[in-house]
Amino acid sequence: MLFEETLALVARIRERYAIEPIAVQPRLSLTGQADLYDEALWTRNPDLCCKLRKLEPQGAFLQHYDAWISGIRRDQTKARSLVPVVTWDDQFELVKVSPFARWTEEMVWRYVRARDLPYNELHDRQFPSVGCTPCTRSIRPGEGLHAGRWAGSEKIECGLHVSLVSLGSAL
Ligand code: SF4
Repeated sequence: MLFEETLALVARIRERYAIEPIAVQPRLSLTGQADLYDEALWTRNPDLCCKLRKLEPQGAFLQHYDAWISGIRRDQTKARSLVPVVTWDDQFELVKVSPFARWTEEMVWRYVRARDLPYNELHDRQFPSVGCTPCTRSIRPGEGLHAGRWAGSEKIECGLHVSLVSLGSAL
């Protein structure tokens, strides 16, 4: 479900830092998900789709760790405006560290340019926020940075960082 530009970024990171990123996979393949929930679940129930394809696999993976580090920032969305730098993650039951919580978008890009860091090339094509292919589009002039995610729906978070339950979702 990832863009080829996202996969290309993973390849550049692997090469530049000589590390092997671990791909966390959902329990159900796309075919298996379609068998159980019909085709294109993301168009009818994106919260359930995110639960199956993001929250459950992430939760299973994090069971083996005491802490995780996230790149989220307070300036990204209103729901993230109070993100602590270090906190207890109630959802996944481990420590969560967000070292960029206080950074602004401008600070991030200055750092990326100054050090020639690898980044997703979609950011150069009006995709300020990148997720799964069916739920991400480029933004138009005047739109907010997250207007391209789940466009046309009320959904604003996948649930990894801000609990869908706390946002009022009925999973
Ligand atoms: S972002 Fe879209 S396709 Fe990806 S898991 Fe969520 S609803 Fe499904």
